[in-house]
Amino acid sequence: MTLVRRSEEAPGLYVHVPFCVRRCPYCDFYSISDLALIPRYIANLAREAELFASAWPEPFETLYLGGGSPSLLNREGLTGLLKALSLFDLSQLKEITLEVNPEDVSSEQVALWAETGFTRLSLGLQSLDERWLGHVLGRGHTVEQSRVAVEMLKRWPFELSLDLIYGLPSQALEDWGRDLLRAAELEPDHISTYNLTVEAETPLAKSIAEKYLPPLPSPDKVADLFLLSSQALNAKGFYRYEVSNFARPGHESRHNLKYWRRVPYLGLGPAAHSFDGQNHWGNLLSVRQWASALVSGVAPRAFKEKLDHKAILLETIMLGLRLAEGLPASILAKSPRLVKFIKSGHLVRTEGRIRPTEKGLLLVDHLAIELTE
Ligand code: SF4
Repeated sequence: MTLVRRSEEAPGLYVHVPFCVRRCPYCDFYSISDLALIPRYIANLAREAELFASAWPEPFETLYLGGGSPSLLNREGLTGLLKALSLFDLSQLKEITLEVNPEDVSSEQVALWAETGFTRLSLGLQSLDERWLGHVLGRGHTVEQSRVAVEMLKRWPFELSLDLIYGLPSQALEDWGRDLLRAAELEPDHISTYNLTVEAETPLAKSIAEKYLPPLPSPDKVADLFLLSSQALNAKGFYRYEVSNFARPGHESRHNLKYWRRVPYLGLGPAAHSFDGQNHWGNLLSVRQWASALVSGVAPRAFKEKLDHKAILLETIMLGLRLAEGLPASILAKSPRLVKFIKSGHLVRTEGRIRPTEKGLLLVDHLAIELTE
């Protein structure tokens, strides 16, 4: 089987900002609330940049600040963070994204984001229905704050993406349909829709187990919610270009496309992941452990994995089939199960590519495993 490596495309740079003022009850990401540690975090980020700058001399095409809550960084924090990256070639950046919490949106912060060069804001609305936003998701903002935040951001020339979560306890089709329409009516460029996964040991898992909250929708119901997303958003001018992501044509996330197309990316900060075209590695989760590795002058890695041919093939198929653009048919030409999945309506062959159908998108990992056997 022929593999396509797209490393001729310029890489992306990701920076993980691990600070959150409070913990959302469904979140199992590592984050810390001691904002007094921000200056030390930035000093260590500069050390990490120094460690990797010579190995990544090519210009980056995208920069993405995720978290955590990078939008809580004030002027000193944000300019300090960007300065820490100055050893990299950022002269060709075409997209600079900041993840934003609605409660951090103020006229001063928005002006700062514009002044420091951000082109794209990804706003974590999560729900536009108060019944889930506060009670279930425990977010620190209200629906009204979300609307005010969107109105403020739209006065600036940012690309705007909105994040929504579905598959919430007792959520009905009409509830999710209403959320999608409310989001589309805010006229963003991009909408991400994430299926809620309830991780063990989170306060949300406990609330459901102890019946303070109703149970999650069944897998069949979740599949219906997934399919409804396309119906509702297609009618509003968005198309699903990846399992969880919709965009108006031309407004896809350049940075996130690199992950699915297996273009190299460098991740800095605790818990950040990287890929150089052949190896994956992930940083230590804890800020303190990450920082102490850097102070000792060593890469703050938790793991590094070199992919063999079989793993590269599986990853290429698994990631490629997440995308509406699919994969070059040549990659799957020798797979004995390809015809079966075309006949079953999970995949289609068009213009020399194998693309997933909506039904196929529901089963991407399963399809990829079977196709590589
Ligand atoms: S803001 Fe995001 S990263 Fe922080 S606790 Fe909430 S869900 Fe987790």
